[in-house]
Amino acid sequence: MIEIDGAEGEGGGQVLRTALALSLIERKPFRIANIRAKRQKPGLLRQHLTAVQAAAAIGDAAVEGAAVGSQTLTFVPQALRGGDYAFAIGTAGSTMLVLQTILVPLALASSASTVEIEGGTHNPSAPPFDFVEHAYLPLLRRMGAEASIELVRPGFFPAGGGKICVAIRPAKRFGRLELEQRGELVSRRARAVVANLPYTIAQREARVVAETLGWNENEVEAHTINGSLGPGNAVSVFVAFEQVTDVFTGFGAKGISAEKVAHDAAIEAKRYINSGAAVGEHLADQLLLPLAVGDGGSFTTTPLSTHATTNIEVIRKFVDVAIETTAIANGVVRVSVSS
Ligand code: ATP
Repeated sequence: MIEIDGAEGEGGGQVLRTALALSLIERKPFRIANIRAKRQKPGLLRQHLTAVQAAAAIGDAAVEGAAVGSQTLTFVPQALRGGDYAFAIGTAGSTMLVLQTILVPLALASSASTVEIEGGTHNPSAPPFDFVEHAYLPLLRRMGAEASIELVRPGFFPAGGGKICVAIRPAKRFGRLELEQRGELVSRRARAVVANLPYTIAQREARVVAETLGWNENEVEAHTINGSLGPGNAVSVFVAFEQVTDVFTGFGAKGISAEKVAHDAAIEAKRYINSGAAVGEHLADQLLLPLAVGDGGSFTTTPLSTHATTNIEVIRKFVDVAIETTAIANGVVRVSVSS
C-alpha cells in the first residue's frame, strides 16, 4: 500500500487527483492522510469527492473514507475500464478537475469512453474549458490518444450548472513527447466572454488585452454566451506556436474590476511569450503525468510551480521514472522524463 501525506508540497487537491490517476493506471492501491491540509477548508469537498467516485467507477475500486470533509482515504483499484460514464458534482466545483483525475487513465484503458460531467466549466484555480480544449488535449492526441471535448452548457462559479462531454479513444501506450522548442508564432487571439452580465464588460476587457499586449483590435473579441445559470465572465488569451498552443485565463469576480481581470491574464500571457519556453506554468504541471506513464519526453517551461514539484513527488511514489529539471537561461527550466 503506497502511503501519501496530502500535506506535503502544495498540500491541495492535486495530490489526491494525481494519486488517483496513477493508482488506476499502475493498478496500485494507496492510502492518503491530511487531504488538502494546506487549504482553508481541508478534506474532501464535493468536487474532490466526485473525483474519487469517478475514479472508483472506472477502476472498480474499493474505497474507504469517501465522504465530504474526510481527510483520509484508502483506494484499492481492481480494473481500468472504458465505458459511458456520467458524473454530477452537485455544486459549481470544477468539472475539469474531475476530468483531470480520470482523463489520462481512460486514455490508456483497453476500450473507448464517453464522459459527461456536470458542475463548473469556467472556475478560477482550475483548468478552464478553453485551456483543456486548445492546449492540453492536442498534446494528449500527439501522444497517441484521441480525445475531444464539448461544452454542452457553461457553468460559472458560484451558480454552476455547466456540463461537458468528453469522448476518448485510448492509446495502447503514450508515445514520447518532445517539446523543447515551441517553433514560430502561428496565431494569437483573445476572447472575453460574459454570461448574464453587461456586454460592455467584455468589450472593456478585450480593449485592455489589446493595449497590454500591443495587439490589434481584430485580434481580440468580446462575446455574450448563452445558456449559463448564473452570471460569469472570463478572458482567454490564446497563443499558438508551431509546436504548441497555450491558453491564459482570467476570471471576473465580485470586487475585481474588468480591467484588472483582463490585465492580469494578458500579463501572464506576456510573460510566457517573452520567456521563449515551450509551455506555460499550468501545462507544465499537467504534462508530467502522461509523460511519466508513457514513453517520457521533455519540455521547456517557465519556473516550476509548487503544483509541478508536488506532482513530481507523487509520481515518484508510483512509477520508477527519472524526472530531471535543469535551469536554463532567463528562468526557463528544461524538464525531462525518462522511463
Ligand atoms: P484545492 O482543492 O486544494 O483547493 P484544487 O483542487 O482546486 O485546490 P489545486 O490543487 O489548486 O486544485 O490544482 C489546480 C489545478 O488546476 C492544477 O493542475 C493547475 O495547473 C490547474 N490550473 C489552475 N489554474 C489554471 C489555469 N488558469 N489554466 C490552466 N490550468 C489551471
